[in-house]
Amino acid sequence: MKKVDIIVPCFNENQVLELFFNEAYKVISGINDYSFEFIFVDDGSSDNTVDILKGYAKKYDFVKYISFSRNFGKESAMYAGLKNSTGDFAVMLDSDLQHPPKLILDMLKAMEEGYDCCSANRATRDGDPKLRTFFTRRFYRLVNRISEVDMPDGAGDFRMMNRKMINAVIAMSEVQRFSKGIFSWVGFKTKWIKFENVERAAGETKWSFWKLFKYALDGITAFSTAPLKLASVLGIFISFSSFVYLIYIVAKTIISGVDLPGYASIITLILFVGGITIFSCGILGEYVAKIYMEVKNRPIYIIRESNLENEKNDYKK
Ligand code: UDP
Ligand code: MG
Repeated sequence: MKKVDIIVPCFNENQVLELFFNEAYKVISGINDYSFEFIFVDDGSSDNTVDILKGYAKKYDFVKYISFSRNFGKESAMYAGLKNSTGDFAVMLDSDLQHPPKLILDMLKAMEEGYDCCSANRATRDGDPKLRTFFTRRFYRLVNRISEVDMPDGAGDFRMMNRKMINAVIAMSEVQRFSKGIFSWVGFKTKWIKFENVERAAGETKWSFWKLFKYALDGITAFSTAPLKLASVLGIFISFSSFVYLIYIVAKTIISGVDLPGYASIITLILFVGGITIFSCGILGEYVAKIYMEVKNRPIYIIRESNLENEKNDYKK
């Protein structure tokens, strides 16, 4: 019988975990052709999330948990889940019931049809804050235009993958992870299904606007070097126009003598060129920072405790 791992990142989810577990348990109880295992990843919660997980683990032998030494972020939690998964398939679910567990059925069907991956997209963003929706849309449009990967709007982390794809995803061991890009980058045959957006069953979102903004920047710099090219293009453009202006000034001086006024044009040029220079340095800085973090090669997560038989940490060498 083929085994499906259900990977669930949890960060301070004591308000909703029980609802989630009951619902997911109901779904898998109705499926007899596969065996299931939960891999809950407690991402350094400060509430009693890990105690709830331990309770489940004591009661059910198909419940495994990994608890991090601190909060590493959802990307790290998903990576830890995948790295510790041993199943033929793995599906990632949010613990707040925004990813309806009943879709596991449709995903398994897609796997049987021969797909390597089945990704469930949110059909709408109803219920999300308007401003957030607006910026998310802009982000997807931008990232799809300038990067080599294709990330459909609404494509999230809610997906099932087969072993081949799981191995490919964990082989991409970059420290600054942007899963939406990674999933698309590794390729494979993906079936897209849609689901209606549901609001969080309880508790609060862990994403502030600022956190999302930084995440979006990460997404762009992780899969595109277009901003670097933008800096060069701006540089070339400004050098060229300055050169033309220079010829004009020299010619004018030769023809009609020295002309002192020009404060406005000089100050405008200094400010403009200065702005572009700083902007370009900032872009360079973003990439240098990325290189710096990658070169350190720090582990993506650190396990504090787990009931897995031989849990895999992420210590490199
Ligand atoms: N999550 C996590 N670590 C974090 C933030 C979130 O493991 O640092 C988990 C969280 O418990 C949930 C999932 O990631 O299962 C999605 O988080 P959330 O619902 O807050 O995000 P949203 O649905 O608002 O995008
Ligand atoms: Mg959520």
